[in-house]
Amino acid sequence: MSLIPQLNGFSIKNNNWHAEDVSLANIAQEFGTPTYVYSRKALTDAFNAYEAACLRPNGDRRARVHYAMKANSNLAILNVFAKLGAGFDIVSAGELARVLAAGGSPDKVVFSGVGKSKAEMVAALQAGVKCFNLESIPELTRLNEVAGSLGIKARISLRVNPDVDPKTHPYISTGLKGNKFGIAYDDVIATYQAAAKMPFCEIVGIDCHIGSQITEISPYLDALDRVLHLITALNGVGIKIRHLDIGGGLGISYTNETPPAITDFANTLLNHIEAKGYGHLEVLFEPGRSLVGNAGLLLTTIEYLKPGETKNFCIVDAAMNDLMRPAMYEAYHAIVSINDKSASPEVTYDIVGPICESGDWLGRDRPLKVAQGDQLAILSAGAYGFTMSSNYNTRGRAAEVMVDGSTVHLIRERESIESLFANEKILPA
Ligand SMILES: *Cc1c(COP(=O)(O)O)cnc(C)c1O
Repeated sequence: MSLIPQLNGFSIKNNNWHAEDVSLANIAQEFGTPTYVYSRKALTDAFNAYEAACLRPNGDRRARVHYAMKANSNLAILNVFAKLGAGFDIVSAGELARVLAAGGSPDKVVFSGVGKSKAEMVAALQAGVKCFNLESIPELTRLNEVAGSLGIKARISLRVNPDVDPKTHPYISTGLKGNKFGIAYDDVIATYQAAAKMPFCEIVGIDCHIGSQITEISPYLDALDRVLHLITALNGVGIKIRHLDIGGGLGISYTNETPPAITDFANTLLNHIEAKGYGHLEVLFEPGRSLVGNAGLLLTTIEYLKPGETKNFCIVDAAMNDLMRPAMYEAYHAIVSINDKSASPEVTYDIVGPICESGDWLGRDRPLKVAQGDQLAILSAGAYGFTMSSNYNTRGRAAEVMVDGSTVHLIRERESIESLFANEKILPA
């Protein structure tokens, strides 16, 4: 049995899978495959689930969402969130340019990442971002120099490595001692003291981010307690912290995982901060996956069914270049036939792409009732799907559409083959 996550925005109506009010079969016919399909309603509902905790009943704000856009940075998605009032968490100057192009406001941007270049610092200072989340003394030193050369004061926060185990996949766990991320817990105070001496850096916050696809709340509470302790210690040495950025990482259900509901999760953390006496702090969340993961799927067409000696293969027109997570993390995505009542017999398949790599698989041992030419939907593909896609095997990246009620908007054209080598040059004769 393949288990299907609870979805909002995608459902079976009259035996056919739909995105909101549009059948996936119609989308496949109009836009071709592979195509990423997003639901505006699912995006909006996920954002509002955070907002429900971020706003007090009297309308006062106690926290703000900064969407970690590396999860999905299509301009239409950023624009949906910007209109809802989101801030953004960026990790490059490229992402900053996307925020600005999508109508986001730079004063709600936090700039994370372990390796910011000088040019990226210049761009972010000139745009006037809310805060730089810094991770080392050399980075602090460089930012102070760059800000000084522009005559601008940079608002900064230091990313603490709280050394807690988020109990997730090692590639997406970031808050343990062995990770490249953050400032070692024991060095945090001294690093803030160094920052306090830098004339072009203004200390405004403290941040942490312990990992991704976290399905339990306890690692967050552990991390929070350790960071709150630091805030008090910093206050003791005369360093005032105005905002606390808890990072992202809340998991989603890909199959049978049961992460806390978004509003409960956010309320638990915010109530914990208040109960410990830190209710005066401005709190930031940086969710990525939990806002977009289950708001998108990847639509693909079956090219061939290939019986093998020990396995049956279902070869589809999407591949690891379109959705890297299975190949990279052995991640599970539920895969369904978009026609729920197919007359084909049920067979167990490995769903694989056309790429010349054995790692090119999208799902293993999946019972499906399908025939050549049918379409499949690879569910929960809204986060780290398109943004991690590549042109490997000179395959153009997929089209992306957003469904809003009964309307389908093309939000990224399928890449043409010519565009894939348009920047390349043959040597002179
Ligand atoms: C990736 C990342 C996030 C978002 O993580 P999700 O698991 O997608 O919620 C938030 N903050 C930082 C610093 C990140 O690197």
